[in-house]
Amino acid sequence: MQGDGNSMSIESINPATEEVIETFEPFTEREVDEALQRARNTFLRWRTTSFAERGELLVSVAAYLRAHKAALGKVMTLEMGKPIVEAEAEVEKCAWVCDYYAENAENFLADQSAPSAATESYVAFRPLGVVLAVMPWNFPFWQVFRFAAPAIMAGNVGVLKHASNVSRSALEIERVFRESGAPDGLFQTLLVPGGQVATIIRDPRIAAVTLTGSEPAGVSVASASGSVLKKTVLELGGSDAFIVLEDADLEGAAQMATRSRFQNTGQSCIAAKRFIVVESVYDEFIERFVSETKALKVGDPLDRATQIGPMSRGDLRDGLAQQVRDTLAQGAQVALGGEALARTGYYYAPTILTGVTPEMVAFREETFGPVAAVIRAHDAEEAIALANDSDFGLGGNLWTRDIARAKQIAARLESGGVFINGMTASDPRLPFGGVKHSGYGRELSAFGIREFVNIQTVWIGPAATAAPTSVATE
Ligand code: NAP
Repeated sequence: MQGDGNSMSIESINPATEEVIETFEPFTEREVDEALQRARNTFLRWRTTSFAERGELLVSVAAYLRAHKAALGKVMTLEMGKPIVEAEAEVEKCAWVCDYYAENAENFLADQSAPSAATESYVAFRPLGVVLAVMPWNFPFWQVFRFAAPAIMAGNVGVLKHASNVSRSALEIERVFRESGAPDGLFQTLLVPGGQVATIIRDPRIAAVTLTGSEPAGVSVASASGSVLKKTVLELGGSDAFIVLEDADLEGAAQMATRSRFQNTGQSCIAAKRFIVVESVYDEFIERFVSETKALKVGDPLDRATQIGPMSRGDLRDGLAQQVRDTLAQGAQVALGGEALARTGYYYAPTILTGVTPEMVAFREETFGPVAAVIRAHDAEEAIALANDSDFGLGGNLWTRDIARAKQIAARLESGGVFINGMTASDPRLPFGGVKHSGYGRELSAFGIREFVNIQTVWIGPAATAAPTSVATE
């Protein structure tokens, strides 16, 4: 946001060139009001549509995304610096989640028989209404689609408040729905600052809220929603552990560590951030990890060979640089990188810090950029304790050849996911979300689509006589 008081405009800045590429006027109160009314009116009709009709729309959206993959990917790359190959893959993944829910939503939300003393009783899943989605810039399309596809298939409608640095992406997503045949008001973007979110949450036309973002935003959205008793799903930050045990495939672990930590230029909530390595393989793992990371190509994100682009905003790059300086001052060592790159654009060198210990900044805080912290553990027991010694609990990774032991360790890890001999990645078929300060609720799979529904009990009398539960207690 730029400007003063009442005349703030919203800017998109290309992080590779530091140039303002577009400015937007925030919505007036009246425009927000009209959008919410449109959404509510559309909901009243949309909730009566069949799964077949909803599915037809999402299949069209998926086809549109695939057909316009190159152009849509470029919008993301220009606004937030994601390497273009990753941006196009993100558009493909959005098409996948649309197809997935078009195919599976009816099954996930089918009435469930719940025999009781009634002549007939069952559970039905009804839509809630207009869902407000407050989303981050790091996966500007994916974060939105993984909310929108299930919500819309469940019969809800969506309004999006996207991060202020990706307003063009937000408007493009609205256009994707419109041009794919969505009814007016089914999916709308509101261009408003984060400070206005609480007021929108309190609007009676908003039924529920989903936020993907930072912890402070989570506290603010949960408080505003709590004050008006609205359902929320929170997908917040993470500082995922990547545990390497003595019997791990070190070559595979180092390759996957590099992919997990540096994909999207390190700006991923489920990136592995704390690499906890047992003593016996500590030096060898670091050697391999440094060598893999050194090979990453840093450059112009529009170049198809680029693997590391600029970070998305200058303030975020500066914040990361400070976290690294603080961690070094606390006694960690640099094995690679360790500073911003002296070139135009918000570039930060791919960095590996070693000798990190639990009191250090890079262990305690989330590092949202291309910085890995390597921590030495005495043995598996200490590795588990270190992994759990975090406010966060989003994903987690474990490398060992002993799968039976891995499953036992997984049960002791305090995180929403444990990926054994791999890296954490979201997948429409698997539930996604965290515990502790990483948030609550789940997205994706059958669990995700049931977050924004009214689980309605339908009971048809008369009740059978002599049922022990027939006493009215409420
Ligand atoms: P952010 O600053 O929290 O912003 C996320 C969204 O919340 C933006 O739309 C932002 O709008 C809005 N917002 C900010 N402060 C708010 C407030 N006080 N009340 C209401 N809305 C507010 O996060 P970010 O920097 O964009 O994204 C990075 C964070 O998101 C990291 O912590 C990352 O781990 C987390 N994340 C989590 C997941 C997950 O699935 N768990 C996925 C991706 C990212 P403005 O831009 O207008 O401020």
